[in-house]
Amino acid sequence: MESIASRLEAIQEEIKAACIEAGRDPAGVRLIAVSKTKPASLVREAFDAGQIEFGESYVQEFLEKSEDPLLQNRPLKWHFIGHLQSNKIRSIIQKVSLIHGIDKLSTAEELSKRALQHQITIDYLLEVNTSGEASKYGMHPDEVLSSAEALFRLPNITLCGLMTIASPESTLAQQEFRQLRLLLEQLKQIAPDPSKLTELSMGMSGDFAEAIHEGATMIRVGTAIFGWR
Ligand SMILES: *Cc1c(COP(=O)(O)O)cnc(C)c1O
Repeated sequence: MESIASRLEAIQEEIKAACIEAGRDPAGVRLIAVSKTKPASLVREAFDAGQIEFGESYVQEFLEKSEDPLLQNRPLKWHFIGHLQSNKIRSIIQKVSLIHGIDKLSTAEELSKRALQHQITIDYLLEVNTSGEASKYGMHPDEVLSSAEALFRLPNITLCGLMTIASPESTLAQQEFRQLRLLLEQLKQIAPDPSKLTELSMGMSGDFAEAIHEGATMIRVGTAIFGWR
């Protein structure tokens, strides 16, 4: 089996190639290594190979991993990319650099309340259900726009952009990535401070090159780095 270091290197090359094709600067795409279900030892291996940002999806697993002795005193950054229930917010907010999966106004309100209590500011993304699949989390695009005013008013949290999980089928995925980019443009037009809306978190192991073509600023890659789950 290939080492994690060589897989990371290969992915960085693919990111560069996709950026060149799309006429983009590779510095504008951040790789989030999705380590859910994988042990801290593999996170450590990736970190030692130069990977800084990691994504986790399950609260309990994330809390245990982030406390693992193998990862102490290492300045890695955690992204919470899973579905986040209101009652779990309190346990993670001081440990994450960005929360990708906020999909309800009420969850954003709870996030704001907790951030205020801790006197911190939290960056977050709204998850959008661009495919319309009933099995997926995420706000309907119309709901994003209709909730925007209320979201922008919430103290101590900063909406930094949008996140989506695309359909497995690549033609559809491409349309969905484009839809997310256009939605972010619409959101900028009604935002009090559009300069904060910089992020499009989209693209996974199977479709990150397409996502980069459509403007992804963060790609979330698990399997291609850590192997099958
Ligand atoms: C698991 C997961 C990923 C990574 O998917 P891979 O196909 O393994 O790259 C990306 N985003 C989210 C939200 C995930 O839950």
